[in-house]
Amino acid sequence: MRAVVFEQLRTPPVLIDRDRPRPGPGEVLLKVAGAGACHSDVAVYHDFDEASAPPQLKPSYVLGHENSGWVEELGEGVTGLAKGDAYLVYGPIGCGRCPACSRGQDTYCYNVADMPYLAAGLGRDGGMAEYMTVPARNLVPLGDADPFAAAPLSDAGLTPYHAIKLSLPKLAGGGKSALVIGLGGLGLVAVQILGALTGATVIATDMKAEAMARAEEFGAVTVPGGDGQAERIRELTGGQGVTAVFDFVGVAPTIALAMGVVARQGRVTIVGIAGGVYEWSFFAAPYEVDLTSTYWGTIEELHEVAALYRAGKIAPDVEYFAMDDALEAYRRLEAGEISGRAVVTPHGR
Ligand code: NAD
Ligand code: ZN
Repeated sequence: MRAVVFEQLRTPPVLIDRDRPRPGPGEVLLKVAGAGACHSDVAVYHDFDEASAPPQLKPSYVLGHENSGWVEELGEGVTGLAKGDAYLVYGPIGCGRCPACSRGQDTYCYNVADMPYLAAGLGRDGGMAEYMTVPARNLVPLGDADPFAAAPLSDAGLTPYHAIKLSLPKLAGGGKSALVIGLGGLGLVAVQILGALTGATVIATDMKAEAMARAEEFGAVTVPGGDGQAERIRELTGGQGVTAVFDFVGVAPTIALAMGVVARQGRVTIVGIAGGVYEWSFFAAPYEVDLTSTYWGTIEELHEVAALYRAGKIAPDVEYFAMDDALEAYRRLEAGEISGRAVVTPHGR
């Protein structure tokens, strides 16, 4: 089968032939419907060197950590799943036994140091291929919903959902507001989730005019970057500041914007992994502001994301690519030329 393989640090992936994998005990072989190209993949193959790469993320493996597919074959001991049924894949794979994994939060597995990989597509073969294997517990049913556009929900949906859910106490009730910084794969789904879960005023910003236009269609008020941006955002909140900020970029200027517009007792969640630095001081930040980061989400939350999708409340904006064009999808993602999410469909649509 054809697969997009991350072979060498600091080197773009290659499209090569690989043997079709066999499901191990407790695993399922999926025929991949969709594989989203996440900006984190670019960080994985671009930024890490021998010294900085976590051992679990060293090559080589098939990329693709946000996937959907159809059950093709069951490994030993797996029952109750029917060939041809469509599922979303929960990517993170922890030990499965520790307190974190027991609550479906494999992202924070206590035994990560002993795990050979972090997730399907992050250290272990992922879904940027014709077939992939996953533990049966990582499958979230899609029913008869479109499995192709669903693929990004596994990360571009789940990650903002987790961040927003943890911020709901700041968003429930009248007069609340949210700011979404960065309207790419994750940010555009974040705007939709905020609309589906809260009555907050949603403010959004990006450097790309077309991304902001799309966010407006999803109900956001947009404010372009540049002079007066923070003032304009404050105005939209009646001068009180934003009660929950979500930064899907994470460079120093976006963190500074987030901390510059957040309300007293508000919350700032940094999701983008650009590594920007912010100097906190008692006097620099408004009183009682929570400043935090989040990583992906839980299996239970992916079931909730799938339910929102199946109910028609959220739908990722996708641009489809054939398997032959998968490397072009990554090239365009790096160049900032993708609107929403690039999804590779190895078996067509
Ligand atoms: P993307 O490339 O699809 O979108 C990024 C968007 O941010 C683009 O629309 C771009 O125009 C915009 N942008 C870039 N710089 C900006 C700036 N200074 N001000 C305003 N907008 C700006 O990326 P994505 O796949 O949506 O990922 C977003 C970030 O989240 C990446 O850093 C990615 O690695 C990270 N990520 C984190 C997690 C997590 O669990 N924490 C999970 C997935 C992705
Ligand atoms: Zn664990």
